[in-house]
Amino acid sequence: MDTTPPKAPATPQPSLTARSPLDLDADTFRELGHDLVDRIATFLESLPSRPVTRGVSPGEIRDLLRSEASVPETGRDPAGLLADTAQLLFDQSLHNGHPRFLGYITSSAAPMGMLADLLAASVNPNLGAWTLSPVASEIEAQTVRWIAELLRCDPASGGLLVSGGNMANTVAFWAARVAAAGEAIRARGHSAGEPMAVYASAETHTWIQKATDLSGLGTDAIRWIPTADDLRLDLQALQAAMDEDQRAGIRPMMVVGTAGTVSTGAVDDLPALAEICRSRKVWFHVDGAYGAPAAILPDVPQALHQLALADSVAVDPHKWLYAPLEAGCVLVRDREALRKAFAYHPPYYHFGEEATNYVDLGPQNSRGFRALKVWLAIQQIGRDGYRQMIADDVAMARLLHAHVEAHPDLEAHTLGLSISTFRYVPPELREKIGDPETEAYLERLNRAVQARLEKGGEVFLSNAVVRGRYLLRGCIVNFRTGDDDMAAIPGIVAREGALAHAELASS
Ligand SMILES: *Cc1c(COP(=O)(O)O)cnc(C)c1O
Repeated sequence: MDTTPPKAPATPQPSLTARSPLDLDADTFRELGHDLVDRIATFLESLPSRPVTRGVSPGEIRDLLRSEASVPETGRDPAGLLADTAQLLFDQSLHNGHPRFLGYITSSAAPMGMLADLLAASVNPNLGAWTLSPVASEIEAQTVRWIAELLRCDPASGGLLVSGGNMANTVAFWAARVAAAGEAIRARGHSAGEPMAVYASAETHTWIQKATDLSGLGTDAIRWIPTADDLRLDLQALQAAMDEDQRAGIRPMMVVGTAGTVSTGAVDDLPALAEICRSRKVWFHVDGAYGAPAAILPDVPQALHQLALADSVAVDPHKWLYAPLEAGCVLVRDREALRKAFAYHPPYYHFGEEATNYVDLGPQNSRGFRALKVWLAIQQIGRDGYRQMIADDVAMARLLHAHVEAHPDLEAHTLGLSISTFRYVPPELREKIGDPETEAYLERLNRAVQARLEKGGEVFLSNAVVRGRYLLRGCIVNFRTGDDDMAAIPGIVAREGALAHAELASS
C-alpha cells in the first residue's frame, strides 16, 4: 500500500514576462472584435425572418448549456467561444428587437447603444466618484440635463442614471421620505418617527410595493386610490384619503402620479395632483418610466407637458429612448434632496466638493457608464429624431387599434399612448359579453390565445387586466415595427383564437 501523502498540485509560478490568461493582444482583440461585429450585423439584419421567440422550456435551455457541468478546469480558444456564444444567443433568445415583438414595455435597442456599451466597457470609468471618471461623470450630468429638457422639465434638476424604472422610482421615494420626515429618519428609521403614508392609484406599477417594503415603511402605508372610468387616479378619493390620514395623525409622505400606466398608457391629471400636493406641502412624484418621453410630442394628453410640476420624475431611457438595458433615470427638482437622502462621508472618501460624485446622489457605490449609450443616441438623432420615432410608435398603435376594430372576431378596448388592448371573442359569444360565465370563459380563452402566440413565435403580445377583463395588449416601443405588421396581427390573433376556442371546446 502506498502511504505517501498525495502531492499538492503545483501552484502556477507567476511570470513577469508572460501575458495574463485573460488579456488579449491588440491584433487578437481586433480580429475577435471584427468577427463579432460582423456576426451581430448579420443577426440584426436577420431579425424579421426569425421567430420572435421559440417557446422553449427551461429544461431544453439547461440541456443546451449542460448547466450541471462544473467550472471548466482549463480555458478554450476565445474565437470559438465567442462564435458559439453569439450563435447560442441569436438562436435561443426572445428578440425584443423583432418587428412583431409588442410585449410588456421592452423596446428594441438602438444599434448605437450596442456600440456605446462596448466603448463604455473599454474605458471602464467608475462613476461613483468624479476623480475616477472625470469626462464620464460630466457626460452623465449632461445626459441628465438633456433628458430633463426632452421631458420639458427644469434642466437644472438634479438626477442620475440608475438600472431602470424600479430604481428610479425608488430613489425618488427615498428622497421624498427624507424630505417628509427629516434627515433624522436615516439614523432612527421609521419605527421611531411619526407614521407616514403614500398615495398611488390602483394602476401604479409594483415598484411602490418594493419601495415601501424595502425602506421599512411597509406596504400597509400605501393608500391605493381607485381610478375613475378613464383609468386615471380619482382626485376626490385621493383628497379624502389624505384628509382621513391627517385626522389620524398620519403624515402624507408622497403622492404618485403615473404618466403612462403600464396596462393602458393612461396619464393621470398631473397639474391637479401637483396643485393638491403644493397646497398640502406633500412631495409629488411622477412615474413616467414608460410615457414621459412622449412629452416631446405636441398632440398627447396635455398633462404630459406638465412634468415640470413634479418634485421628482422617473423615466426609463431603456424604454422609449431605445437604450439597450439597463438605463433608468430619476430627475429631482431640488438637487439637494438626493444628497440629503444618500450622502455619507466616511473618512476614507476624500472627493472634491465642487465636482459631482454620484456616490452621494444614489444607493450605488461603484457605478458603470450607463449614460454613454443615452448620450450618443440623443446626439445621433437629436430631438427631432426622437419626436419622429415616438410619433411613429403612437401612430402604429392607432393603426393596430383600427385594424382590431375592423376585425369581426376581435373586441377593441383601450388605446393610450402606444398601447392598444383588445381580446378575441368568438362570434357566438358576442351576444353574451358581460355575462359572468362568458367572461370567465373569455379570460381562459384569451390566456390560451396568448400562450399559443408565444409558442408560435409569429408575434409577441402580453396582457392587461382592464376593468376586470383579461385583454391582450400590444405596446409599440419598437422602431422596426411597420404598417404591414399592424395589418397582419389581427388576423393572426383571430386565427389562433379560433384554434384555441376549438381546443377548449373539445376538452
Ligand atoms: C417599466 C415600468 C416600471 C419599471 O421599470 P423597470 O425599468 O422595468 O424597472 C415602473 N413604472 C412604469 C410605469 C413602467 O412602465
